[in-house]
Amino acid sequence: MDTTDEYYDKEVEWLQEETAKLIPLQTEWNKALTGSAYRADFENEFGKQLFKLMDAELLVSDERIVPEIVEQGKLTQEYSKTAAQATIEFNGEKRNFYGLLKFMESTDRAERKAAFEAWAALYEQISPKLDEQYSKLVALRDESAKKMGFPTYTEMAYIARRRFDYTQEDAAKFREQIREIVTPAVAKIREKQRVRLGLDKLRYYDEALKFPEGNANPIGTTQELVDKAQNMYRAMSPETGEFFDFMKEYRLFDLETRPGKHMGGYMTSFETYKAPFIFSNFNGTSADVDVLTHEAGHAFQGYLAMRSIPISDLTGSTAEINEVHSMSMEHFAYPWMESFFGENAEKYRTAHLIGAIEVIPYLVSVDEFQHRVYAKPGMDAMERRGVWHEIERKYMPWRDYDGNKFLEEGGFWMQKQHIFLYPFYYIEYALAQICAFQYYGRMKEDRTKAWADYLNLCRAGGTKGYFELLKTGNLLNPFEEGTVEKATGHVIDEIMKLY
Ligand SMILES: [Zn+2]
Repeated sequence: MDTTDEYYDKEVEWLQEETAKLIPLQTEWNKALTGSAYRADFENEFGKQLFKLMDAELLVSDERIVPEIVEQGKLTQEYSKTAAQATIEFNGEKRNFYGLLKFMESTDRAERKAAFEAWAALYEQISPKLDEQYSKLVALRDESAKKMGFPTYTEMAYIARRRFDYTQEDAAKFREQIREIVTPAVAKIREKQRVRLGLDKLRYYDEALKFPEGNANPIGTTQELVDKAQNMYRAMSPETGEFFDFMKEYRLFDLETRPGKHMGGYMTSFETYKAPFIFSNFNGTSADVDVLTHEAGHAFQGYLAMRSIPISDLTGSTAEINEVHSMSMEHFAYPWMESFFGENAEKYRTAHLIGAIEVIPYLVSVDEFQHRVYAKPGMDAMERRGVWHEIERKYMPWRDYDGNKFLEEGGFWMQKQHIFLYPFYYIEYALAQICAFQYYGRMKEDRTKAWADYLNLCRAGGTKGYFELLKTGNLLNPFEEGTVEKATGHVIDEIMKLY
């Protein structure tokens, strides 16, 4: 809530050290259960998935790597502070990233460009620190992997992220499908955007502006937006209505941005109270509404699962599925956008749909980047920037940094906190969007049926593995040849017609 608060700084540090000390106990517990003569009976009672998770945890968590884990905790905390507290002077005021956002979507191109340049300068200014923190993090992760007997951190991360159903090779094939199908489609959408904006060339600071007269912004204060969300969820279904009433009654939000507040948005839960909690940085753009659909999608799933699944380890799945809960909710919420955006609702929906597809090449870029980084953990800052630049050319050939040296050299990756804090977490968003697009397509034809499948998926939580859950939710597997094309085809057609 305030990364400048020294008292809580110490508290977090203490918590990280003490939690790491619990690892040996956790290992003993896992060993006792997985090696028990009654394992089969336990599996009959609680399902096989719980034990699969424990088997995996034993491979990646151990007393031997406690020092590395503690050290990583310190570094990630340092990183979070560096990123959250970075400011830059813009329009006569010191601003952080969120303070720049509105200007980055300005309809005045000169202002937009200046805001993006300030944004790039903000990262360039902290880049020596970030580079150092990241180099140390990569080295520590690599060391712990080697201590645990893995050739590189990548193999360990796949197990730690519970990727039991797909391999590095499958991920590479999926990225290739994106490059073949989504990249050219986004290039066409970008070309339409260029014409619509009346520009000679679409530069990086133009990408976020979808309409010459400006993007749609939500109408109302934070409290009003929450009230609107409540009306929406009450109208959507009895389940969502009950969920959001609960959120509001117990004030389970911290929505507005403040100086020094941790960046980003997320949902977490207080399991004892079966209560989800939403954290975000509201800043007056349409992203605020995305929080009320995306994070609320996670929260809704948590609310349901915490009430139907007795084992807390199984209420949520892995991110490949969890992000389906949240990203699909963004689409299911479309019919209520009039209440948030008034006459600009259609504009919001179009921009949202474009945003959902055009981000996919970026998502897989972050994935490929991390594979490259951990394959060669000794890379220095400039080598890493070179790798980012090369990957960017491959998946986002339209990207034009208009002579900004820091970005042209490959500095863009640094603004992605997942790369620092949650290694390898990113391809999941792309996999999940491919599934969310399937629900969106079916929603256009038979909303009732699509919603029923979605509810089934939410209720199943993490009681089964990834591929099995896809079946539960009636979804095509994103790794299967043809799924990317089927899932994105109707979206691309719709955008080309609308935009
Ligand atoms: Zn999410």
